[in-house]
Amino acid sequence: MLTCEQMAELGSDFIDRRLSRRTRLAVLLHVRKCPHCSRYIKQLRLTSQALQALPFDDEPVDSRAILARVHPPQGASH
Ligand SMILES: [Zn+2]
Repeated sequence: MLTCEQMAELGSDFIDRRLSRRTRLAVLLHVRKCPHCSRYIKQLRLTSQALQALPFDDEPVDSRAILARVHPPQGASH
């Protein structure tokens, strides 16, 4: 079972489909049981979709700066 801390690290790789099948499954299982991480993954997905919708494709996107605005799951109390 993954911890919420691991989820925070794996989240963006999960969204970008860079995880192995096994790790991906572990993430899905965690999300199913953990409302905080469920919300976290949803936010990441929305952020990722927003990034893809941006018009400047050929510029490197500073995804770290954008992800930094998404609250990690453990801080999500509201
Ligand atoms: Zn969690």
